[in-house]
Amino acid sequence: MTRTVTILGATGSIGTSTLDLIEREGDRFDVVALTAQRDVEGLAAAARRTRAHRAVIGEARLYGALKEALAGSDVEVAAGRDAIIEAAELPADWTMAAIVGTAGLNPVMAALRRGRTVALANKESLVLAGGLMTRVAREAGTTLLPVDSEHNAVFQCFPHDDPTRVRRVILTASGGPFRQFTREEMARVTPAQAVKHPNWSMGAKISVDSATLMNKGLELIEAHHLFPVGHERLSVLIHPQSVVHSLVEYLDGSVLAQLGPADMRTPIAHTLAWPERMATPCTPLDLATVGRLDFEEPDLVRFPALALAFQALRDGGARPGVLNAANEEAVAAFLAGRIGFLDIAFIVEKVLARYAPRDPETIDDALMIDAEARRYTESALERQAA
Ligand code: NAD
Ligand code: MG
Repeated sequence: MTRTVTILGATGSIGTSTLDLIEREGDRFDVVALTAQRDVEGLAAAARRTRAHRAVIGEARLYGALKEALAGSDVEVAAGRDAIIEAAELPADWTMAAIVGTAGLNPVMAALRRGRTVALANKESLVLAGGLMTRVAREAGTTLLPVDSEHNAVFQCFPHDDPTRVRRVILTASGGPFRQFTREEMARVTPAQAVKHPNWSMGAKISVDSATLMNKGLELIEAHHLFPVGHERLSVLIHPQSVVHSLVEYLDGSVLAQLGPADMRTPIAHTLAWPERMATPCTPLDLATVGRLDFEEPDLVRFPALALAFQALRDGGARPGVLNAANEEAVAAFLAGRIGFLDIAFIVEKVLARYAPRDPETIDDALMIDAEARRYTESALERQAA
């Protein structure tokens, strides 16, 4: 049976991996809509190849360019932020949420409100407004399928009908490219070094987050919303080989883990075929070649971003959203060469100390806190650069 699918953020790392899986299946999937922010060429090419019904570019000024790139095809063209939300609302059996950052929140909420099954890669939206998002998903009777490899692993091992059977959820982390660096060595790293992850190929923002371990911090908060066991039962374990993607420890001492290749097409395929399974072109995991699996405690002194995220998780309310917004701006400043690598966590800490808003009750509240946290971050960045 043909399944209809929409991909929000179709030109990114997750988006293109999703397209790769879909295109290999021939007519099994019917593409409703593809969206991107700026990459007109990538979007138009993907829309032509998949014969998508609609292609949407986020930057309104690029409407003409996209229209031209799709001239002579049957693909409907639209542009602008609202057009992305409209695309998310179109009926589809499965929607991939792979926009990076807070920008993904409104589109994913639009899909959830319409009761769409959402494969969620966009962790920042969950960090900013997880409570509100999961409530809407529950009320709409829809399923949030985690794409993030760790959460997808937990999802596969978790007792969904009775979470009280769980003693601990353990998220694994590769440790990133600077796992063994001293703080002095980290002070000198460049954006080019930070975006080069040893095990995974990903977008720039999440690659920097993996290097600071903020990614694991955001994932703790993400796990808190997806798997209701209480924050005190969530933990992080460094595992440099990225073979064990996460673990669930039960009350009786049994530990279930999901293992697999370090290729996002495996967790994406899990959500795409769910509750069935589908084949992928990923190189199968060969444990004899891997040889050994190492595990160690994370170092919260060398990686203060993880400590900040643990604290934001414990504090709850608006704190995770402030952490996330400050981090997004600080990472952008680092990538632009405005600040050093160690300044990222330092700036986030400053913003958390200065800005303590009330808990958000609506999505608009959450977005207002996000915007305000970014203003605080900008002034902290200006002081830092001065
Ligand atoms: P990416 O930067 O490669 O792609 C981002 C996509 O979002 C692109 O299609 C881009 O056009 C679109 N986009 C960017 N800004 C936008 C905006 N303001 N409005 C609308 N669309 C916008 O990022 P990625 O690595 O594919 O990551 C996407 C999401 O998935 C992130 O939230 C990331 O944390 C999460 N994730 C990624 C991986 C990975 O392996 N890449 C793994 C786990 C989770
Ligand atoms: Mg992950």
